[in-house]
Formats: sequence, C-alpha cells, structure tokens
Amino acid sequence: MSEVDAIKKLFASSPGKDEVALMYLGYSGIIVRTSKRVIIIDPADLLKDEEVKTLKGVDLLLFTHSHGDHYKPDVTLNIFKATNAPILAEPIVANDLKGKVPVNKLTAATPGKAYTFDEISVNTVQGIHRGPINLYQIKVGEVSMFHAGDSGYVQVKDYPSDLAFLPTGSPSPTASPEYALTMAMELKPSVAVAIHGSVDQSKEFEAKMKEKMPKTSVIIAEPYATKIVTPKKG
Ligand SMILES: [Zn+2]
Repeated sequence: MSEVDAIKKLFASSPGKDEVALMYLGYSGIIVRTSKRVIIIDPADLLKDEEVKTLKGVDLLLFTHSHGDHYKPDVTLNIFKATNAPILAEPIVANDLKGKVPVNKLTAATPGKAYTFDEISVNTVQGIHRGPINLYQIKVGEVSMFHAGDSGYVQVKDYPSDLAFLPTGSPSPTASPEYALTMAMELKPSVAVAIHGSVDQSKEFEAKMKEKMPKTSVIIAEPYATKIVTPKKG
C-alpha cells in the first residue's frame, strides 16, 4: 500500500468511542484518530505534499519542540493550509510560526498549563532534552494519551494515561529504553507505543515492559501501519 493510500485508509476508518486509530510517521510523528477527533503530533517533514492533501478534519496540530525531526516550518505551513487546524506548540516553535499562521490559530504551550480545543484537552509537561521540550497529555472523550516527544526521563506520575507514546532513543541524545520504561511505570498505560528509537532499543523497551508491566501491551511502531487499539482500562 502506498503511503497516500495508508493515510486514506486511516481517515476512512471509524474507531468506536473507546478506540484509537493511530498511524506512526517516523521519529515522534503520530496521527491519532478517535471517534471524535484527529490530532497530529510532531509531523516534522514526514508528510509529503500528496499525503498532506489527503488529510481531512484535523482538529489539532501539536509540536513538542523545534528540532528538525519534530518540526519543519514549510511542511507545517502546508499542513496548516490544508487543514486550518489550530496549532499548539512549544514556545520556540510558536514564535517561529508567528506572522505565518493567524494569531487565533496559534498557541504557545507553557509547561504546567492546560489548553482546551473543543473536545480536546491538553496538559503541558516540561520534558528534558537539548533545549526546551514539551510533553503532552491529551484527553479526548473517553481516552487519555501521553506523548513524550524524544525526552529523557521526567516525573509524569501526575498524568496517568491509557495510551502512551514513549521514545526509546536514537537519534535522541536524551531518550532511552530505561527512561521509557520508567515513564511507563508512572503513566500506567494499557497500551504503550515505542517511538523514536532504533529497532534494538524498542525491542529492549518491549522486553523490559514484559517483565515489569506484563499487562500493558507494547506496540513497536512501524511507519504507515494503521493500528486500532482499545486503550481504555476496565
Ligand atoms: Zn527527535
């Protein structure tokens, strides 16, 4: 299946109210689709023109930080033009987009603060990286999820989430399988998705999870494969 067809398929799927359809793009890039909302996180330059054209009904575009494997200005503007989705971004990213995106569509996310976009609520958490990085807990309807960018370990126990996207390493200098595990143990997700790491690092994370959190299912994200998960507990 081509990447364009894969995205079409994602947008044609209809997840139930406890389900999440997710597509991994590479690095920390994810498209998340719930029964109600579509959110794109850290698309960097992972979405080509043809793919951007197939996006529809995107409700929020989120950026964890300004590094090139998470944020690219031209692709971001392409996505914005195609979707008109509001953007919530770490302040360096937001500042870079100032003047290019209407002010009412652009919000700089301050760690510790919460933001609401219609039925989506987002808590911002300060991560640790080379330069500032925001991690996000996102709640949509029945589902809560956490995206850890490519951060090293920070305390996240106040943000329990059903679904967690956790970076296992490469090419991040701060992320590791061990840190991803420690964050998973605090977030207590029923589904953990390994992102932003080498195959070996993600497998190491998976093995650690099997030992420490055997009830959590672990997905090693593969680009452009749509997964439908039911992360809501009980
Ligand atoms: Zn990165």
